[in-house]
Amino acid sequence: MFSPEIRTSYQQQLGDMQSQGIFKQERVICSPQDADIEAVFPIGSEMKHVINMCANNYLGLSSHPEVIAAAHAGLDSHGYGMSSVRFICGTQDIHKELEKKLTEFLGTEDTILFPSCMDANGGVFEAVLGEQDVMIADRLVHASIVDGMRLAKAQQDTYKHSDMAHLEQKLQLHQDKRARLIITDGSFSMDGDLAKLDQIVELAEKYNAMVFLDDSHASGFIGKTGRGTHEHCGVLGRIDIITTTLGKALGGASGGCVSGRRELVEMCRQKARPYLFSNTVPPVVAAGAIRVIDLISSTTERRDKLEKSTQWWREGLTKAGLIIKAGETPIVPVMLFNAKLSQDFARDLYDLGIYAVGFFFPVVPKAQARIRTQISAAHEMHHLEKALDAFTKVGEKYGILGLTKAEIIAKYGE
Ligand SMILES: *Cc1c(COP(=O)(O)O)cnc(C)c1O
Repeated sequence: MFSPEIRTSYQQQLGDMQSQGIFKQERVICSPQDADIEAVFPIGSEMKHVINMCANNYLGLSSHPEVIAAAHAGLDSHGYGMSSVRFICGTQDIHKELEKKLTEFLGTEDTILFPSCMDANGGVFEAVLGEQDVMIADRLVHASIVDGMRLAKAQQDTYKHSDMAHLEQKLQLHQDKRARLIITDGSFSMDGDLAKLDQIVELAEKYNAMVFLDDSHASGFIGKTGRGTHEHCGVLGRIDIITTTLGKALGGASGGCVSGRRELVEMCRQKARPYLFSNTVPPVVAAGAIRVIDLISSTTERRDKLEKSTQWWREGLTKAGLIIKAGETPIVPVMLFNAKLSQDFARDLYDLGIYAVGFFFPVVPKAQARIRTQISAAHEMHHLEKALDAFTKVGEKYGILGLTKAEIIAKYGE
C-alpha cells in the first residue's frame, strides 16, 4: 500500500535532491532536434528560439531530410513494430542489412543490434566472460559499462583514467586468469578526451588480453573516415569488441550494437539477456540507420565540417579568454570551476538564445564545474558566431575573461 507515510518519505527524498541542487529538470523542445530549436524552460514559460549547443547530434543527421525519407519508406514497407524479440519473429531483412553495414563501417567481423547501447553494455560482459576471467576498466567508463560489469560473473578491476603504467600493472597482476578484457570508452563524454587506444592495444598484445571499446561518442566522426577512435589511433581491426549507439551521431533515434570478433558476437546472440528478452529495434529506426551509414560511408563531408567547426570553436573560446579542456573532439567543456557560476552562466546564455547546460558535482568532480558544449555539423558559421558572442558577453559580465583557474576560484570559490 502506498501509505501517506511512504508518500511523505519519498517527498522528503525528492526535496533533499532539490535542496542539494541535484534535482534534474527537463527542458521541453517543441521542434525537431537541430541546431535551431524551439524550447520551453522552465516548464510553463514562453517558447523561445535558441541555438542548441548541447546535443549529441554530432553529424546533424537527427533531422536530415534523407534520413527522414528513408525512415518513412521503411515504415511503409516494413511496418511500425515487430511485436517480438529478434530470435522468435523479430528479425527482418533490414535488421540483417543494418548489421552488415555496421560491420563494414566499423571494420569488424560481425555485428549484433541491441535496443540501445545501454543494453549492449548491459549484456555483453555476462555473455562473453566467465568466473575465471577478469575485466579491467578505465575508471571513467560510462555508467552503462559499470552496470554491465556488475551483472557479469568475471572478476572486476579498474585502472586510473588513461594511466597506461597502471593498466600494465593490472595486466601483470591478472596473468593467472583465463582471459583478460581491457575496457574503455573511445571518447570520454565529460572531458572530451580520447582513449590512448594504440597503447592499450599494444599492452593487450603484450599481455594476451582482449580489448573492449565503447565508441558511442566517436562513431561516425572520429578518425579520417569517421569510423571511430580505433581508426584515429591506427588500430582498425585490432579491437575485439566495439559497442556503440545509434542514438548520437548515427541518426540519434535509438538502438545500439556489439560489433567485433565473430565468435563473441555469436555468444551475444545466444546469451545476451537484453538481446534475448527485449524487443527488436523498430523497422523505422533500422531503415533510417541504414541510410545514415550509407550517407557517411559515401562522403566524409559532414565529419570534415564538424572537425573544422570544432577547431574554430575551440580557438574562439580560447581567444575570448575562456578556459576550455584541451582536446580535439567536438565535446568542448568551458571550465567555470564553481557550481553556482556554472548555473548562472547557463541561464544568462539561455537569455541570449544559447542553449547549453552547466554540470557540477556529482556529475563532474568537485571544483570542476563547467558548461559542456558540443559542436554539430548542423551548426553553420552564423550559429557559432552568435554562440561565441554570447559566451564572451556572459564571461565579461562575470569578469572571468583572461583569468586563470586560480583567479576564477579566488573570485567565486570552488
Ligand atoms: C550514450 C552512451 C551510451 C548509451 O547509449 P544508448 O544507446 O542511448 O543507450 C553508452 N555508452 C556511452 C559511452 C555513451 O556515451
